Amino acid sequence: MVDLKSQYQNIKEEVDKAIEDVINSTAFINGPAVKEFQENLEKYLGAKHVIPCANGTDALQIAMMALDLQPGDEVITTTFTFIATAEVIALLRLAPVLVDVEPDTFNISIEAIEKAITPKTKAIVPVHLFGQCANMEAIMALAKKHNLFVIEDNCQGIGADYLFSDGRKVKSGTIGEIGCTSFFPSKNLGCYGDGGAIFTNDDDLAYKMRGIVNHGMFVRYHHEMVGVNSRLDSIQAAILNVKLKKLDEYILARQKAANYYNTAFANHPKIKTPITSSYSTHVFHQYTLVLSGVDRPKLQEFMTGKDIPVMIYYPIPLHQQKAYISERYKDGDFPVAEHLSAHVISLPMHTELEDEQLAYISNSLLEFINR
Ligand SMILES: *Cc1c(COP(=O)(O)O)cnc(C)c1O
Repeated sequence: MVDLKSQYQNIKEEVDKAIEDVINSTAFINGPAVKEFQENLEKYLGAKHVIPCANGTDALQIAMMALDLQPGDEVITTTFTFIATAEVIALLRLAPVLVDVEPDTFNISIEAIEKAITPKTKAIVPVHLFGQCANMEAIMALAKKHNLFVIEDNCQGIGADYLFSDGRKVKSGTIGEIGCTSFFPSKNLGCYGDGGAIFTNDDDLAYKMRGIVNHGMFVRYHHEMVGVNSRLDSIQAAILNVKLKKLDEYILARQKAANYYNTAFANHPKIKTPITSSYSTHVFHQYTLVLSGVDRPKLQEFMTGKDIPVMIYYPIPLHQQKAYISERYKDGDFPVAEHLSAHVISLPMHTELEDEQLAYISNSLLEFINR
């Protein structure tokens, strides 16, 4: 699905040097590379504060800890996402309230959020799924009306631009009170291990989150708040400093590959290609089709037989996951997400796809579907 090896070959010298520098300095924890990355990412995003941490799941957890939510408080999020989004809500003994998505963008449905709001609702966690922003303007308006926090799960959307109706353009993850991202190797900005970051424009929240990531400690062995240990390694930060410079170029490469696929599958009666909304660019963390009248397991088998990896993101919506089954929901409650889970397929998507590979992948898919 991703070709991290070819990507590495193209930046090997710079990455190897960056890693070597950290090892020579022995500043493995909170070394200068981490601070440098923090500043580089703040600049790239136009965010006042970036707080590096150990992974995207921690980023979400720390964000929720910083908002002082109380056990039982309801947090609304999408049922069609990676488990981490709801996991941290449950872990903190908050109540995950799952809602359906929009059929075109696969992102959280505004109508569904509105219906799910109760006096116990404290926050909304939109996910910028597959690399395209949720409808943040509508979400922020709802949040304002009902006095709710917004935490953006930007683990798949880093680098996307959000366009407000007044023409203002900002980076994804900088719109809500807090944005969270992951540097898992296959993410759009990936390191060579685990990594994550939290963004905010709020000074108080930034202060608190900087404390939480480090055991609630600002002065050594003085603990102001209950925290966790969640740091970005210096080596990972050094790698990210190299790769952040390439992020825009990488996004363009993904968009180019997506355009190739879009053209290859245009107007096919059985294939719906991804929609790019009017308010967000699409950075194509995943390239995901919705199929109709296609035997998906057989297609997967066929593609695998041709050495083409394909994946189903996500095969089971969260409300149907064993750990999250709740009296709140029953099968059929979220028809859009349930339909998508049964009909989507994601094709290889990364920064190094050559036209020849794209042709082979799309021709193979069409060969199966047209026969
Ligand atoms: C990857 C991902 C996460 C978790 O990130 P990790 O770094 O793996 O912990 C959370 N939410 C979404 C939507 C993701 O894609």
